[in-house]
Amino acid sequence: MHHVLVTGAGGFIGGHLVRRLRDEGVARIRAVDCKPKDEWYQVFDDVENVHANLELLDVCRDATEGVDTVFNLAADMGGMGFIENNKALCMLSVLISTHTLVAARDAGVERLFYASSACVYAADKQASPEVEPLREDDAYPAMPEDGYGWEKLFSERMAHHFAEDFGIETRIARYHNVYGPGGTWDGGREKAPAAICRKVATAALTGDHRIEIWGDGQQTRSFTYIDDCLEGTLRLTASDVRDPLNVGSDQLVTINGLVDIVERIAGITLDRRYVLDAPQGVRGRNSDNTRIRAALGWAPSISLEDGMAATYAWVHDQVAAHLAD
Ligand code: NAD
Repeated sequence: MHHVLVTGAGGFIGGHLVRRLRDEGVARIRAVDCKPKDEWYQVFDDVENVHANLELLDVCRDATEGVDTVFNLAADMGGMGFIENNKALCMLSVLISTHTLVAARDAGVERLFYASSACVYAADKQASPEVEPLREDDAYPAMPEDGYGWEKLFSERMAHHFAEDFGIETRIARYHNVYGPGGTWDGGREKAPAAICRKVATAALTGDHRIEIWGDGQQTRSFTYIDDCLEGTLRLTASDVRDPLNVGSDQLVTINGLVDIVERIAGITLDRRYVLDAPQGVRGRNSDNTRIRAALGWAPSISLEDGMAATYAWVHDQVAAHLAD
């Protein structure tokens, strides 16, 4: 890896990935995002920062020129509240996935990493909170999350076939609910961990100890701390594994359990109100890490308690600054 392209570099995972690649001494990094630069979560002046829309093939050609490795993280996405109400927008990310692959192939890129999602898994395997952890093979027969999940499943298959037919090495991670400092924490695209941190921090700062929880709080998930996500991304990209791998924590928690953890971190107890008609996604989901352990000799291991402590501290600062405005 000498000259690397990170797409979606103004976003949560992309920003952290650029930081990590710099720390690892990658010589040249091109960071591309369609958001204006003053909205990027992290901007590094010593990398090439480009504000451009990767839905367009010509933009992808410029972005991949001279590059040996691509990390394709750009997508129009958000938490459940966003993806359940913006299915067409989510599916339009297929333009980014397709044009990035075509341009990378034509530019002679050696390796392309694609950020897929646990949303590719068949819904009927996630109907109960007492989940069987999801194995990679559970994506078929296909019945993914409508909109967002279909785009991810299509694009990961396309990446796989580009490897078979055109010889570009593609690597595919199915991320499971990645969280950490430096991500979306309000505005409608935030995901559960950041949203819960925001609500608890707001309660702690304002003294209004009521909290709204989407659903009955019994739905289960696993949440992957950003450092584990980056480690898995880099290990998978360097490996010879062409098939998709789960990159996700297997520490299962209910949403109520997640609120318990944040309450303990904040040192307060809240009055919970359940919003039963809010978007909730599947009933239960966990990551089966058998295959990633066998393939990479590694799996995510950072505990929710540790990851949420760091996340809460960061979100608390954002909320405090916002309230002070
Ligand atoms: P994010 O929304 O913070 O980052 C995505 C970035 O892509 C944004 O900054 C956005 O502006 C950019 N983008 C969107 N359309 C673009 C375009 N046309 N041209 C250029 N840039 C564009 O999301 P994230 O959490 O950092 O996710 C990164 C990737 O990982 C995405 O592909 C996402 O689907 C995938 N993923 C994330 C999670 C998670 O829990 N965060 C879970 C599964 C998969």
